[in-house]
Amino acid sequence: MTIQNYINGQFQDPLENNWIDNYSPANGEIYGKIPSSTTTDVDAAYTAAKQAFPSWSKTTLETRSRILIKISELLEAHIQRFAAAESKDNGKPISLAKAVDIPRAASNFRFFGNAITQFASESHESVGQGAVNYTLRQPIGVVGCISPWNLPLYLFTWKIAPAIAAGNCVVAKPSEVTPMTAYLLGEICNEAGLPKGVLNIVHGLGTSTGQAIVEHKDIKAISFTGGTETGAHIARVAAPMFKKLSLELGGKNPNIIFADCDYNDMLNTTVRSSFANQGQICLCGSRIFVEASIYEQFKKDFVAKVSALKVGHPSEESTNIGALVSKSHLEKVMGYIAIAKEENGTILCGGNKVTVKGYENGYYLEPTVIEVTTDDCRVNQEEIFGPVVTIMPFTTEEEVLEMANKVKYGLSATLWTNNLKRTMQLSNQLQAGIVWVNTWMMRDLRTPFGGVKASGVGREGGFEALRFFTEAKNVCIKY
Ligand code: NDP
Repeated sequence: MTIQNYINGQFQDPLENNWIDNYSPANGEIYGKIPSSTTTDVDAAYTAAKQAFPSWSKTTLETRSRILIKISELLEAHIQRFAAAESKDNGKPISLAKAVDIPRAASNFRFFGNAITQFASESHESVGQGAVNYTLRQPIGVVGCISPWNLPLYLFTWKIAPAIAAGNCVVAKPSEVTPMTAYLLGEICNEAGLPKGVLNIVHGLGTSTGQAIVEHKDIKAISFTGGTETGAHIARVAAPMFKKLSLELGGKNPNIIFADCDYNDMLNTTVRSSFANQGQICLCGSRIFVEASIYEQFKKDFVAKVSALKVGHPSEESTNIGALVSKSHLEKVMGYIAIAKEENGTILCGGNKVTVKGYENGYYLEPTVIEVTTDDCRVNQEEIFGPVVTIMPFTTEEEVLEMANKVKYGLSATLWTNNLKRTMQLSNQLQAGIVWVNTWMMRDLRTPFGGVKASGVGREGGFEALRFFTEAKNVCIKY
């Protein structure tokens, strides 16, 4: 399977004819090649976007909305094809791709197709001064969107949809590890009638293709989701050019469980929040803190449920845990299990590579629960981004709040309790951009999404995203 860049509505080989192998996580074999795009390809994508911008930015909101909603409908119509491609490329269970990833990508287009028609700007009368102000929300021009491998189409479209809804033209790069569904999206955009050049997709390595997008002096804004170190690097490169930046970065999210919660709901959701997508979701609750009075019971029940999860080939409907995304990522995650042992953590279940019959070279790992005795250890402080969680008990609210906040990240936190006062107090004090109480990853696309501290800068979602992808201009008229 050969993937091509999508520039000016057409599929084309990389201009310097360099290619990268694409591996299937399920069996470790090469199954295709993708462009290793250079500055030349990014320049071509930029030129196409620049040419499309004057017309697209003046296209009526109704027309933009109609095209976005059409893309959404086409994604839904082709859900099977997209889900199979996503699962093959990323290693995620096909059931997850069908139930979550692809429907959410479709929702992103539908949501922003509708949201743009409701995006109001402000006006202010300067009372007593005989003047009125109104604010224009103008598209920025050509913007860059760079996304990671864990939720490939879901996060790619979460950026592209608001960018084009707001009237911008886009140069976008998916992760080179998972390029398939971004490639397929080009066809859908053509079928939906998206004008040529509004969306351009260049494939390749982060350090060359991604870097070329960030370095491009005329790409005025970058929306990036990925690791914290990469985000910091992008911020350094972009700062001298005063680019607008949205950075959605790593997380090390606490899952805080009080004895007064609805136990069964908590238990089932905690299995999901720990291991969905092989734990490769920035929102996964990777540090579990349990009130001491129910700690032993929780430990027993949680380990039993986790041990029953089926690790298997991603294309099998019965698989709960698919393959990790790449060999190097598997090695990184296994490295943390070794670190946990050195730090005197107790492996309560998992910890080993899994050999799936017929797919012996796939990147499979048992879901792993590590009991730690201190929150200061590395496995409790550093982002592992795999099917590995730590658990430890706590006794007071003050103690757990301090531990929850004592990491460099601040993306999300989950709280399990039926005590209203505690809910309100902890929600206020947790250092996170998102707090879930008695649920996890329940998303309403109107709400702001993003992190604090090393988890990022800026917010996506709803009108926050449309604000990011527009420049506010105030006009003051004295009458
Ligand atoms: P990376 O930071 O490695 O990569 C993210 C994207 O940036 C990829 O497309 C990558 O390309 C590209 N990239 C890498 N280097 C550069 C560069 N110098 N200039 C421009 N682009 C570059 O992250 P991962 O793909 O490994 O994703 C996992 C990380 O993403 C985790 O830390 C996770 O927490 C975070 N994440 C955050 C989310 C959030 O909303 N806060 C959501 C999901 C994930 P390539 O892969 O081709 O090298």
